[in-house]
Amino acid sequence: MPTNRQIVLDKRPTGEAEAGNFRLVTSETPALSEGQVLVRHRFLSLDPYMRGRMNEGKSYAQPQPLGEVMIGGTVGEVVESRSPKFTAGDQVVGMGGWQEFSVVDAGQPGALRKVDDSRVPLSHYLGAVGMPGVTAWYGLNRIIEPQAGRTVTVSAASGAVGSAVGVLAKARGCRAVGIAGGAQKCRYVVEELGFDACIDYREHGDAGSLSRALKQACPDGIDGHFENVGGMVLDAVLLRANAFARVAVCGMIAGYDGQPIPLTYPQLILTNRMRVEGFIVSEHMEVWPQALAELGELVGSGRFRPRESVAEGLEAAPEAFLGMLRGRNFGKQLVRIS
Ligand code: NDP
Repeated sequence: MPTNRQIVLDKRPTGEAEAGNFRLVTSETPALSEGQVLVRHRFLSLDPYMRGRMNEGKSYAQPQPLGEVMIGGTVGEVVESRSPKFTAGDQVVGMGGWQEFSVVDAGQPGALRKVDDSRVPLSHYLGAVGMPGVTAWYGLNRIIEPQAGRTVTVSAASGAVGSAVGVLAKARGCRAVGIAGGAQKCRYVVEELGFDACIDYREHGDAGSLSRALKQACPDGIDGHFENVGGMVLDAVLLRANAFARVAVCGMIAGYDGQPIPLTYPQLILTNRMRVEGFIVSEHMEVWPQALAELGELVGSGRFRPRESVAEGLEAAPEAFLGMLRGRNFGKQLVRIS
């Protein structure tokens, strides 16, 4: 069996996460038991929820035990199988974690899923045609319930979730307006993803200024907002919300290091009779097949060309992860396992 390199959580962060929270270890891969398969990882997914797992306290994800391999989505290929469900060479998506190989109990429901990389590149099963894509699909369709001609805004618009929100909103005939960090990201959001407009929040020092930019980009106000960030961005959006507007609260990345992100005018929720609803995609498994089918079609047909930031080699994972939390990624953040 191959030698396996793994990244474990070594120490919990106090405040900002740092590279010293992680440790690279080497271990021998155990021999397969009946029903198990050995998967060689090709790509590892880095996702903001992992920051929550690094803490001991309550988050939307369970804490990651110290000394154990960091949890994470992976795509790769089966190299050895003692399960009738898989054969060597199968391309699979699973939760293999931050390591080069994983041994998986193939009989465990949902542990490993075969995927077809003939139309959709393997890595996209961790992004647009994977968990982030379904997250976009759920929040948009089940909470915002978009209607043609209405305006939908989304923060972190160039990211894995945000990009899919905009593409799906356009497919439903909405005006889609993104909010993202930097001119290059905003250009991509409009020119390549097809949003109607995108605002660079870094050009705005406060919520009032950002809200004035939103007024220009959303002349009919905001009917639906998909929140990935929190803080100033959410304040600015609420100032432009229409009556009965809906907010899908997906993420609050501005507060993941534990800092408070106060809401300045919560009274707008009342005066605008708004629905503001948080959700966790793993609690809505019933929508996954439908969502993945639509997203797979959008990507497979070339109508949605998601962007990726790919770090090279397992050892690059901690820095790439920390960079993503600070906005240094451009599109879905992955690690290629060589
Ligand atoms: P992204 O690919 O969008 O990467 C994170 C982005 O967040 C960065 O690129 C950066 O973009 C933005 N960002 C980081 N810090 C800040 C800040 N302080 N202010 C504004 N923007 C910031 O990640 P994902 O698409 O994977 O995830 C997006 C959100 O969705 C996250 O909040 C995540 O936790 C959430 N999520 C929730 C799920 C659920 O079930 N509820 C499931 C999956 C994801 P920029 O440079 O544009 O600022």
